[in-house]
Amino acid sequence: MRVLDNIPIQLDLEEVKGQLRLNTKAGSSSDVRELVGIAESLIQAKAVYEVSYIGQRGEDTVEVNGVTFTSRVLRVNLDKVGRVFPFIITIGKALEHEASSCNDLLRQFYLETIGDMALRFSRQYLEEYLKRHFGLGQLSRMSPGSLKDWPVTEQSPFFSLFGNVEELIGVTLTESMLMIPRKSISGIFFPTEVMFFSCQLCPRKGCPARKAPYDETLRKKYGLNDE
Ligand code: SF4
Repeated sequence: MRVLDNIPIQLDLEEVKGQLRLNTKAGSSSDVRELVGIAESLIQAKAVYEVSYIGQRGEDTVEVNGVTFTSRVLRVNLDKVGRVFPFIITIGKALEHEASSCNDLLRQFYLETIGDMALRFSRQYLEEYLKRHFGLGQLSRMSPGSLKDWPVTEQSPFFSLFGNVEELIGVTLTESMLMIPRKSISGIFFPTEVMFFSCQLCPRKGCPARKAPYDETLRKKYGLNDE
């Protein structure tokens, strides 16, 4: 089990402005700088990861460090892979407390959005860290709950890969499989020649977070039934 307990968050001011949909009029830069400063003082980004090995493979199952996961897509994605990197990342609870205790709804939205950006930054940081430390090329990732094929109930066996996650990085799992703090993500990084995005297999229309177009043909290749 390895922990990165002080991920240095560096947010690009122009990118933050774009995400907050703020124009570049005089005044907005210092406002954004102030918001980012507040957010950065509250963020405590941490990650835990485990170098894990693939065991038995079934029709729709795959074993990772002795824990069996049920997902056709994960099984197919890990077909030719021997070593993977399950991870959990959080930016802590202070920023979301600040946002939820704020009466100004716009400010609340700004802080939440900056928190989401910090979480994405942390995920990219971990990805680059793993590539450097393990001499890896391209990585893709999958998360429990990102597809119907790998439901959120799989968070429970996923967390068991790490032991006491609360002690390690302060993240707990509720009975309904939500992570606390809310601004946390979990998933498995795996080496890949062709980039994979869960969005390619997800038919949800109008999703603002879509990273790749829906691909009906790919769904068939994975042997998934119609939604
Ligand atoms: S399209 Fe949206 S809901 Fe579907 S996997 Fe991508 S981000 Fe998730």
